[in-house]
Amino acid sequence: MLLFRYAIFIVAGFFVTLTVTMGNATDSDDTPTVTPTGLKPNYPAGYNCTPISSPYGSWIDVDGTRRDEIHTGVDVGRLGEWILAPASGTVRAAWKANWKWGTEGALLIQHDRDDLNLTKGPKFYYSEFDHLDFDEIKHFREGQKVKRGQRLARVTHPGENQTYLPEVHWEVWKADHDNLTWRTNRYDAPDWWNDSAELVDPLSLLGLNNPPTEDKSVAIVPFVNGKDYDGFRGFTYIMPCTPK
Ligand SMILES: [Zn+2]
Repeated sequence: MLLFRYAIFIVAGFFVTLTVTMGNATDSDDTPTVTPTGLKPNYPAGYNCTPISSPYGSWIDVDGTRRDEIHTGVDVGRLGEWILAPASGTVRAAWKANWKWGTEGALLIQHDRDDLNLTKGPKFYYSEFDHLDFDEIKHFREGQKVKRGQRLARVTHPGENQTYLPEVHWEVWKADHDNLTWRTNRYDAPDWWNDSAELVDPLSLLGLNNPPTEDKSVAIVPFVNGKDYDGFRGFTYIMPCTPK
């Protein structure tokens, strides 16, 4: 559900942002809001973790250029690194997507409260991973369970096009129900929709187990093979972290 928006800035002592949704007619009713959270990652001292290269709600892309839409997720990863499931969940879809950079793979995983060891709050969360190699994810079937830390796919170039810097775009949604519908986006590719879903900063889920500190830094918890995550709330990091 990667979104495309055009923003017009009018400088008159203040900024006015006018958002015009491009896409099919239903988009205008369904366009969710991206509210920057100010959360920032704090990587664990004993590990080397590939850092997030572009945060949620940013206007500057990883290559330093200005975006034409506010960032709906986080970008992370180096070419060939494995993307790890941030929590257990259920595959909802693995499909051929196109978000402007060409045909590529996309993977949607649904996490319920049990998967995140939560007892209240939204009933469901969704993790969407974009810019994947479709051939690497086409084996996933709807309804298939994934485990926390499971290797999902390797980081590659958006649109499987080498002119773009490698990254994975990770988008997180919260939702009260799990009814998905599908529609066609303006690049003629399938796009899911859940009318109860709202975008959230992935860092807010990464920070559920240990509350963010006063300066809004979130302690990133790496996934460690064999460790017991019973009772761990929220997400572990999606990039492998190696002990120093
Ligand atoms: Zn992105």
